[in-house]
Amino acid sequence: MTEGNNKPKVRLICKPDNMLKTVYTACRTCYSSDSPLNIYDCEADSEKMLKLIERVISSGHYSTIEHIQVSFAISNISRACSHQLVRHRHMSFSQKSQRYVKEKGQFDYLTPPTIEKDSELKKKYDEFMGKISEFYLELTEKGVPAEDARFVLPNAAATSMVASLNLRELIHLANLRLCTRAQAEIRLLVRMMCDELTKEEPWLKNYLVPKCERWGFCDEDKSCGRKPKAVK
Ligand SMILES: Cc1cc2nc3c(=O)[nH]c(=O)nc-3n(C[C@H](O)[C@H](O)[C@H](O)COP(=O)(O)OP(=O)(O)OC[C@H]3O[C@@H](n4cnc5c(N)ncnc54)[C@H](O)[C@@H]3O)c2cc1C
Repeated sequence: MTEGNNKPKVRLICKPDNMLKTVYTACRTCYSSDSPLNIYDCEADSEKMLKLIERVISSGHYSTIEHIQVSFAISNISRACSHQLVRHRHMSFSQKSQRYVKEKGQFDYLTPPTIEKDSELKKKYDEFMGKISEFYLELTEKGVPAEDARFVLPNAAATSMVASLNLRELIHLANLRLCTRAQAEIRLLVRMMCDELTKEEPWLKNYLVPKCERWGFCDEDKSCGRKPKAVK
């Protein structure tokens, strides 16, 4: 999606203060005779913590990253985008309801860059959204409840939500949705979610990447060519 108003708004609204130490304690507990409390309380330099975390995650011991939960306030995404996001089953969502929140005028909507860049198509697109809005308003004015009038609203309609997930799921989400095969809007949304978190937790930058960056190869049928194709 384009920069500006036509892009998601994302803010990290909740995360634990001691993420690195918590993940390190979870990792170290698996291999130490010491108690988790002692491990947590003892001084460990971040290089040592990061080395162990990388070793444990690379071995697939993912329970160690499930202890961290983060929440994002997300708005100005399309229903097409939110529909893709809610496919991720380990995430929790509270989304603006089209049943309880009735549109009073032109509903907000997103425009894909491929339409935005063509002024003629953009004009038709806006007119089309206007017509849908008119019909929606006609329905609600004639007493059709919002929960039924919303049937005419398009995938382009803007939505908002609070989305929460643990670190394992965020890494999985990033691995799938930062891939160039993912659709542009969700790719941008997930990029923004990851950037919000890595601003405060830069050590996560190596994990919040497309899957090919972690694996060193691409398993997609239609590869973008960034990494060599997997031998199947
Ligand atoms: C580029 C792209 C194109 C896509 N195209 C389509 C499409 O055309 N049509 C379509 O329907 N979907 C499509 N999807 C959605 C896709 O099929 C998945 O539903 C979505 O990516 C969620 O992925 P997931 O199941 O790995 O992750 P999550 O639901 O986030 O789950 C994470 C992991 O938990 C485990 N898990 C979760 N639930 C179960 C379960 N019930 N049983 C066993 N293991 C489980 C799996 O290991 C899973 O990988 C697409 C996704 C991408 C990234």
